[in-house]
Amino acid sequence: MGYNIAIDGPAGAGKSTIAKRLAKELNFIYVDTGAMYRGIALYMIRKGIDPRDEAAVSAAVPEAKVTIKYEDGVQKIILNGEDVSGLIRTEEVSFAASTTSAFKAVRAKLLDLQRDLARENDVIMDGRDIGTTILPNADVKVYLTASVETRAKRRYDELIEKGESHDLKKIEEDIRLRDEQDMTREISPLKKAEDAIEVDSSNMTIDEVVETIKSLVK
Ligand code: C5P
Repeated sequence: MGYNIAIDGPAGAGKSTIAKRLAKELNFIYVDTGAMYRGIALYMIRKGIDPRDEAAVSAAVPEAKVTIKYEDGVQKIILNGEDVSGLIRTEEVSFAASTTSAFKAVRAKLLDLQRDLARENDVIMDGRDIGTTILPNADVKVYLTASVETRAKRRYDELIEKGESHDLKKIEEDIRLRDEQDMTREISPLKKAEDAIEVDSSNMTIDEVVETIKSLVK
């Protein structure tokens, strides 16, 4: 059994930034479970399947083989043999992933993959249901959050840095919608595990968050 750190929280709370840093410093593997859901969502989009159509999505799920591999410590998402890591970071895929991830067939498919990785390695795994469902016995559980305004502004700055212009209000709206979908679904909704430590990163630097979580690791 590996040492397991679970980080859950809403979109844009900084989970992946923090988890990547921690993984490097602790020499753990970083497992980005959101990317796996995005991989499945991309498959549906490419097949022309409406992400809201549970029957169609569930029927197609077995055809989407999602695996991960690591290149220089960076997780890559492989969809049916193709590296799609660069293609899953669009708003369209974000929404489709949030919609399809509510379906039982999709969640069941990824559960074993995630648990196997945590059993065999020291991992920092981030997502929405890691502390509650996937790794209920994780050694450290963190619920990382931040205000909607802070999360939207971070995303906005990220896009500006990439040279893409965007509307801050629209980003805020998208984040609210995705929170709502992720928190109200029936199976594995996003919520803080009872024994998770809540960290609100709204007024914290990346270093401060990393140090806070490191101090929980025994
Ligand atoms: O974390 P990220 O924004 O990449 O996740 C994309 C979507 O995948 C989330 O909005 C959520 O609906 C879903 N997800 C999930 N469970 C996880 C990780 C992600 O349902 N453990």
